[in-house]
Amino acid sequence: GYLRRSARGNFVPPIKSNEGNVGNVTSRVVGKSDDALGDSTKRCLELLCGPDGELPEKLRNLEPRLLEHVSNEIMDKDPNVRWNDIAGLEHAKKCVTEMVIWPLLRPDIFKGCRSPGKGLLLFGPPGTGKTMIGKAIAGEAKATFFYISASSLTSKWIGEGEKLVRALFGVASCRQPAVIFVDEIDSLLSQRKSEGEHESSRRLKTQFLIEMEGFDSGSEQILLIGATNRPQELDEAARRRLTKRLYIPLPSSEARAWIIRNLLEKDGLFKLSREDIDSICNLTEGYSGSDMKNLVKDASMGPLREALKQGIEITKLKKEDMRPVTVQDFESALQEVRPSVSLNELGTYEEWNKQFGSLS
Ligand code: ADP
Repeated sequence: GYLRRSARGNFVPPIKSNEGNVGNVTSRVVGKSDDALGDSTKRCLELLCGPDGELPEKLRNLEPRLLEHVSNEIMDKDPNVRWNDIAGLEHAKKCVTEMVIWPLLRPDIFKGCRSPGKGLLLFGPPGTGKTMIGKAIAGEAKATFFYISASSLTSKWIGEGEKLVRALFGVASCRQPAVIFVDEIDSLLSQRKSEGEHESSRRLKTQFLIEMEGFDSGSEQILLIGATNRPQELDEAARRRLTKRLYIPLPSSEARAWIIRNLLEKDGLFKLSREDIDSICNLTEGYSGSDMKNLVKDASMGPLREALKQGIEITKLKKEDMRPVTVQDFESALQEVRPSVSLNELGTYEEWNKQFGSLS
């Protein structure tokens, strides 16, 4: 049928376009004329159309520019992280494989008693690989990955967060299987008392929970992953919807060694001995994965700085002029790059894990 309801409920006749059928698609959305939409928006809407060339029902009343934002900025067609890129976290990988990846790959088996939860919470200190896990899940399960930081909904999309959330879940349901990763989910679903809470952020939270209910009950292949460094801020409603809660701790000594080796080997800079690595690992107790990355970055500048100190000009510098990265480079880097998580904070995570975490 060519007759569509506009957002206001009027029937909108199709507008004939001389440039092929691009115009048709867009004129069906909100009843705007073609001229009101840019070419990139039109192209984006076309990509969201089903095989019948129609925009799916769920998306018809949503604003084109929000659909475009979701498609271009939030949707990641090629997340490009695999399990093997993530150091350690064997326990989390195993749980996630069973809970999330298998069900996404074999929905026919994982139903009834085996039907999986649709919400997963990854909590723990910052920079420990929570986002990497989200991306790897999408990669391993051949799912479309959507990434949004919850704080951007409240800061950047002031007053429009609700609409953007609807567009996000709408597009995800047209791109199944899909993984929606909500970073800093505490800022969206926090239990802070409603006194200081703005009306708009309360509405945003409600909208978000409604969308989650929506795909929770149905047979939709959408998984919501929330990540947070402040799990204690989540309220009971949020915890109930995020049925699996996995603690993503700081990397073990082996995982830290793996990160160092992996990063240096990628650039052909790895010359450290087993003893060297052991001593660096002993000195980096309490460093997160992202701290380790910064440490390796800083250490790998050592040989470069030294070569330049000897008077070689940067423009004439050859790779052979630089010595390999040494333990001493790491020792000086340790003065610059301090661990970003305190012991005190770790205690909070462990407590919360005991009380609310999933053990398997
Ligand atoms: P989070 O989401 O937990 O705050 P990220 O997943 O964004 O942390 O990690 C930030 C960066 O730190 C990654 O891009 C990666 O370079 C490094 N990193 C963190 N954890 C790991 C890990 N377990 N293995 C390998 N690299 C890691």
